[in-house]
Amino acid sequence: MLNIILIGAPGSGKGTAAGLFKVEWGMVHLSTGDLLRSEIKKGSELGRFAASFLESGRLLPDEVMMQIMAERIRQPDARQCGVLYDGFPRTLAQAEAFDRMLAEHRQRVDGALMLDVAEEVILSRLTARRVCQGCGAVYNAIDRRPRQEGVCDQCGGAVVQRPDDTQETVRRRIATYEHDTLPVIEHYGRQGVLLKVNPGRELSTVVPAIRAWAQGLLDRRE
Ligand code: ADP
Repeated sequence: MLNIILIGAPGSGKGTAAGLFKVEWGMVHLSTGDLLRSEIKKGSELGRFAASFLESGRLLPDEVMMQIMAERIRQPDARQCGVLYDGFPRTLAQAEAFDRMLAEHRQRVDGALMLDVAEEVILSRLTARRVCQGCGAVYNAIDRRPRQEGVCDQCGGAVVQRPDDTQETVRRRIATYEHDTLPVIEHYGRQGVLLKVNPGRELSTVVPAIRAWAQGLLDRRE
């Protein structure tokens, strides 16, 4: 059982990197952003609470987030194999509470991977990002448009801009990231479990480094 944290600014390519862990090592990809968006879609109590935070690009309160995660890691898929946490922990308080939570299950954070992407890359990528409302497929208004404008190639769903991908909210999300999440990176640096990579515009350039690092973690756990 391996716990890996994925850290990166919005639009740094966490979703793509997560795919690698899913495909190569069969890890569960737990994205708190996806989890909250699906609650909003369902119209659950949590979804109704979370909606205004997501729309404005602010973080949910730490206590709420810790409750959600305590519940989530009790589910069977998260207990069997390794989990890749994407979008959590996002504040130092969440990281410290998470360490305690894992310790209760005799686990710990084995590795933290940081995608260190320049701000101008992130800004241009996020404001051009389009997603399918049906299946979540990701497109790009500049170089990865669906074959038919606004219609998903894979499921025929509507391809739209995420409400929090507008210029103003993107800036807020980046500022929130810098303010709240940099202490999380330092926290894992102090624990000696951090790998920082700089993928620029292409994640593929750092895939070999990520692969070697993750394989090392897996070998050590077995
Ligand atoms: P991003 O593309 O900004 O990395 P995510 O999809 O990970 O965005 O998250 C979207 C939104 O969900 C955040 O802006 C925030 O409102 C909320 N959220 C996600 N994870 C957390 C967390 N760990 N703590 C607080 N809020 C969170």
